[in-house]
Amino acid sequence: MTNDPGDRFTLLTADRLIDGTGAPPIERGAVLIKDDSIVAAGPRDTVIPPDGAPLDAHHYPHATVLPGLIDSHVHLIGIGDGRTGDQLVTLPDEILTLQAAENSRRHLHSGVTTVRDCGAKNRTTFHLRQAMDMGIATGPRLLLSGRPMAIIGGHLSYFGIQATGVDECRAAVRQLIKEGADFIKITATGGSTATSHPFVPSFNVDELTAIIEEAHKFGKHAAAHCASSQGMVNCLDAGIDTIIHAYFKEPDGTWLYRPEITDRIVERGVFVNPTMHQARNRLWRLEHKAENGGLTPDEQADLDEGMRLQEIRFDHVARMVNAGVRLAAGSDAAWSYLPLGTFQHEIQAHTEAGLSPLEAIVSATGDAAKSCWAHDRLGSLQPGKLADLLVVHGDPSRDIDALSNVLDVFKDGARVDRGDLV
Ligand SMILES: [Zn+2]
Repeated sequence: MTNDPGDRFTLLTADRLIDGTGAPPIERGAVLIKDDSIVAAGPRDTVIPPDGAPLDAHHYPHATVLPGLIDSHVHLIGIGDGRTGDQLVTLPDEILTLQAAENSRRHLHSGVTTVRDCGAKNRTTFHLRQAMDMGIATGPRLLLSGRPMAIIGGHLSYFGIQATGVDECRAAVRQLIKEGADFIKITATGGSTATSHPFVPSFNVDELTAIIEEAHKFGKHAAAHCASSQGMVNCLDAGIDTIIHAYFKEPDGTWLYRPEITDRIVERGVFVNPTMHQARNRLWRLEHKAENGGLTPDEQADLDEGMRLQEIRFDHVARMVNAGVRLAAGSDAAWSYLPLGTFQHEIQAHTEAGLSPLEAIVSATGDAAKSCWAHDRLGSLQPGKLADLLVVHGDPSRDIDALSNVLDVFKDGARVDRGDLV
């Protein structure tokens, strides 16, 4: 290996490496980093630092090195205290930007080195990125949509875009790309937004097609919130890249799994981000409350109904996985009660849908990078990729909960100072 004077090398060694591609773990592994990039990764005796170059060596006994986690669905401006989006949006942009900075720091310290932000108010997340570039704030690498594309009164329309017709849709995409959007988020059905209709498709297929074509033209991908089956069908017709939530719901709100939709998702290689833990987290809160003082009759009914729905949802995701759908892990934090810093629960939920722990890790590393169109530089421990790494105690390929035993985080080849969390 050639090395110029001034090159800095970092060597990480651990009991095993998980490279994020789905390959089996490598025992006694090592990763060699030069500046911000990986130059070699593999069995320790094959990863040799150059003679004479300054070397920063870190050895982690009883530990695993893997790619930094990629949370493909966050809302950095969220508070995570249960308030609705309708309430959140009434906060001033300055508060939301400060909250996004705090959420970013927390997520990075928990092992997430890249996030895809799926919708923020006005230009808050673009301003956060500017602050990070200036060194004012810290956090994961940001892949930003800015304001989501919504119809008049549609889900998240209050964040700043309401487009009607093909021309307005194209114009809005061009505006977002001008502002720095890395991808386009579409709310293809209603959702929790009070004026929206969760089970009714929002944009028509010609509008969706215009949005997605315009995004693709500029080398950007599109991800769509779909809370109903018809929303998914329309998005597939229009050429969507990632389907978010993927609720198999009929126009009257009943759940009905439709295998022909799954077949189309598989055929087109569309990623699904199922956001499984978001609802489960709410149930965990209620269960915790039940154990510590009890629930009101309304809360008990909420818990019972929630448990029933969770069974249906997890079954639908399991059927998709069985049919060959590839999942991209994304938490949807800090929507509802889900704080940033807890992404590992979503990865664990993927194992409940039938993924092995190793496959679940891929859904949060290599496949998450693919769904974000960032796999040329992120998501796996391969030469030439950016050196975003996570080191955990234990072996998460056997016990997925080990992903939470964070020992160290590296971003761009630099060790993240996590303060007293270490
Ligand atoms: Zn979301």
